[in-house]
Parts: sequence; structure tokens; C-alpha cells
Amino acid sequence: MKKSISFALCFIFLFAVAQQTYAYALLGGKHKTNNLKFRITDFNGTYDKVGKPLNNAIADWNATSTKISFTSGGVGSEITIKAKNFGNVSWSGRCTNYRDLIIAGNYTGSVIEGNLYYLNQNSYSANKVKGVWGHELGHALGLAHVSGTNRLMYSTDARTVYKPTSDEINGVNSLYK
Ligand SMILES: [Zn+2]
Repeated sequence: MKKSISFALCFIFLFAVAQQTYAYALLGGKHKTNNLKFRITDFNGTYDKVGKPLNNAIADWNATSTKISFTSGGVGSEITIKAKNFGNVSWSGRCTNYRDLIIAGNYTGSVIEGNLYYLNQNSYSANKVKGVWGHELGHALGLAHVSGTNRLMYSTDARTVYKPTSDEINGVNSLYK
């Protein structure tokens, strides 16, 4: 009897540790540099509704304790950002990471697209729009979706936080040393 109790306690302890350790998910790749440049190639949104939330999302990531930084750059920047009306296509933002075919884990570039069809809607507050940009920047860094709505990497715009949490920071710290 005593044995089975200690087994149960041990199981609970391991479960708690596992949850804490894997509170982020990774896509399986990363950029080669910690100092990421971004370049905005298409921008059809207004500053207040779309641009300022983008700037704030970038500032939120730069304010984290991680080793990464996002700064504005020119041709050859790791990250390309576009804000356009892609229509009623069920995504408000998306990120495509392109991989190095020789060094499989490395990204050669990321393209982040914000869909103004959604971002311009009244139901999208400045914070909600910031959350979309911050989430896509997380994908560009190599983070995948997680299941808590109180995480930036939650898969839908029903997320209740709009900047990187400790889980996103831990995930980025595991990739960028
Ligand atoms: Zn996503």
C-alpha cells in the first residue's frame, strides 16, 4: 500500500515538471543569427490600426530577456513583413519560414503577412492586432502553437495575452543562446 502511494506522488511530480518544461513548442528550425533584421515590403494599413501595433509587438520582443533582437534592415533582411488585404481566408496573420536545404535546421528567411481583412475590423483592438504580429514574430523565431489561450503562441485570435509570456521566452532561450 505504501509503495503505491509513493508511486502516485512520483507520477504527479513528474507530470508537473514535464508540463513546466514543455510549456512551449518548437517548429524545428531557427535563424542563424540572434540579431534579426526585418524589412517591410508591402504596407497598406494605417499607422494607428496596423503599424503602431506592429512596432509595439517588435518592441515587446526586444524588451524580453532573450538574446534575440529585431531591427529594421534592407534587402537581405531575415524577415519580410507585409500588411495587405488577403480577403476572408480564415487567417489574420501567417508566417512562412524558408529552410536552408543544406543545413536543415536553419531558416534562410521568414515572410510574415498580416491580413487587413481582419486586422482592420472594429473587433480587432490595438492589443489584439499587436498579439497577431507578436505571434507571427514568434513563428519566425521558430516557435509553434501551444494550447493555452493565455499564451502568445495560442493558435487563434481568442488569445488573452498580447506579448511574449515566460513560456515564449523560455522557448526562444532554448533556440537562441
Ligand atoms: Zn500561428
